[in-house]
Amino acid sequence: MVRKTPEAMKYWLGIYPSESFLDHTCHCIAGMGNTGVFETKDGLVIFDTPIKQYMGRVFREIRSKTSKPVKYLIFSHGHFDHAFGYAPFLKEIEEQGWDKPEVIAHENIINRFNKYKLLDKYHKWINKMQFASVVGKKQSRVVDPHETLNPTIVIRGNDGTYSFNLCGLNFEIYHDKGESDDSIWLWVPEKQTICTGDLFVSSFPNIGNPYKVQRYPKDWAIAMEKMMEKEPKFLIPGHGPLIEGKNQINEVLSITSEVMHFVHDEVVKRLNEGKWFEQIFHEMLEIFPEKFKNHKMLQPVYGCYQFAIHAAYRLYHGWYNSGNPTDLFPAKSSDIAKELLKLNNEKVYLKHAEDLFKKGKLQLALHIVDIIILGRDSIIPEIILEALTLKSRILKEKVKRESSFIAANILDNYRVNVKKEINFLKKRA
Ligand SMILES: [Zn+2]
Repeated sequence: MVRKTPEAMKYWLGIYPSESFLDHTCHCIAGMGNTGVFETKDGLVIFDTPIKQYMGRVFREIRSKTSKPVKYLIFSHGHFDHAFGYAPFLKEIEEQGWDKPEVIAHENIINRFNKYKLLDKYHKWINKMQFASVVGKKQSRVVDPHETLNPTIVIRGNDGTYSFNLCGLNFEIYHDKGESDDSIWLWVPEKQTICTGDLFVSSFPNIGNPYKVQRYPKDWAIAMEKMMEKEPKFLIPGHGPLIEGKNQINEVLSITSEVMHFVHDEVVKRLNEGKWFEQIFHEMLEIFPEKFKNHKMLQPVYGCYQFAIHAAYRLYHGWYNSGNPTDLFPAKSSDIAKELLKLNNEKVYLKHAEDLFKKGKLQLALHIVDIIILGRDSIIPEIILEALTLKSRILKEKVKRESSFIAANILDNYRVNVKKEINFLKKRA
């Protein structure tokens, strides 16, 4: 399904002009994600490389601006859109006979790369699901876990920092957890410029991704505050165009910090009140302040508020999250559905699901139609076909209404599979 690309989504994908600033000595090269470039007399400091599919274009763009050798390569974290597009730089260094650059990252990037290798097939699968609408048909994988570049300078520990000086410019690197546990960010005082990596992405923070490991709302908020203390004049985000001006930067960092504190603290408050996930989740939906909902830098184009609630809850809670012992050792959902089908004819459920769909109660319609699909064993194929067709229509409508790229891809992938099953059943009939 081709989805419209809202402005904030273009920011995430790197569809905006690159910018040079401070007499063309610093550059924010647009990609997915951004590459920050700092020129000194002796060479370049590069902060992040884009997704592999963009690396040739980004490299050529940098070379159209400067021919100086790369001295330092800094990876904000080990995700595929920041730490895998380095090949053209290394090729050039070899061809030119230049000294190899220092590669700087946090120690947790090494664990991450090892995890990618361990879970190669699983990650290939979840990335295909998560990025289904942008992964080309011919492309078998988003990232190859065997193409990692390990750091030569490793920042260690939770309060890890590292700084170096190149031709009079100071580069200060700090570690703070946020979207990942290996995040680092860069402050260049002489240029009053900050590179945030994915701690700032020009839209709602990507926290609580349904497929991925724990993320860190409280640490994220604190990272924003530490960045604000530097009073930067220029901010190169992980995704989105260069942001200029002390006030504007302060405002966007501050609202991101505020929303992360809000999600974290409101979930913690409710846990202390003895509430379970469902109640916390639905109460949190009710109290989400308008100022966050409407802020142009908090639009839910990739991650979203709902996912963030999961992230904050999961930080402190185990998997038993309903408080109902029925869910401690649950029966198979197909067995539950079969029992429900004994109480009512499948046509009753189908009709009810259709009515809910017509009323726009899409989520409830999905729950009801699933009773037929899951408990299908003794049901005639014609009714199964009708139930699957209804499910496909409900999912299509939900995709249309969904603003989060990740959520929309999850819904749409399933819809495609349902369509395949419908076609299979029709051919067999
Ligand atoms: Zn990113």
